[in-house]
Amino acid sequence: MSVESIEDYLGAIYRLRQEATTPLPLSQLGEYFAFSPVSIHEMIQKLDRQGLVQYIPYRGVLLTAAGEEEAVALIQRHRIWERFLTDLLEFSWDEAHQLAEHLEHAAPQAVTQRLARLLGNPERCPHGGPIPPQPEAPGGRPLTEIAPGVQVEVLRIKPETPEALQFLQAEQLGPRALLRVLAHSAEHTLVETQERRVSLPATIAQTLWVIADFGF
Ligand SMILES: [Zn+2]
Repeated sequence: MSVESIEDYLGAIYRLRQEATTPLPLSQLGEYFAFSPVSIHEMIQKLDRQGLVQYIPYRGVLLTAAGEEEAVALIQRHRIWERFLTDLLEFSWDEAHQLAEHLEHAAPQAVTQRLARLLGNPERCPHGGPIPPQPEAPGGRPLTEIAPGVQVEVLRIKPETPEALQFLQAEQLGPRALLRVLAHSAEHTLVETQERRVSLPATIAQTLWVIADFGF
């Protein structure tokens, strides 16, 4: 098992879990990586033997203290690289995410620390993900759960799928965007910003995590 795939597993558990103390069902990891239940199960047992995760049969997987430390460092590197790639190198949101998937494994922690300092120690990635030591606060609800008429502010995009990142950047609907929900259908959510109306496919609307905003 390569260092890179170990890190990817720890990072995925960190991203997908509800809370640090709630076991993450292996089925969710299977969906995330598009791997079979058997191979996920094998990987998790290897990580358990290495002391990075605790596998609880029929319930799922938790990060141990050692696994948590590695996951936090990985997520921090990923999100700092994303900031650098979008803010200084002007890559698009989805390109930055894809490139950070590689750089997060390759760059030594010391390089990432200096990069963070250069960027003024940002607290969030371009998609709104908190950069450790900022806590991975649950924060907000998916746009699909917001009643029509309610005004909201976008907190983050999660999960950061290429389709969602491309669509939302083109529509300028990223963190801090203000919008009002007009209607939901099975396939779409219609919203309005101060300038225009946008129809979001449901698969994209559910990646937008928002909080109610009263200063629209
Ligand atoms: Zn991000």
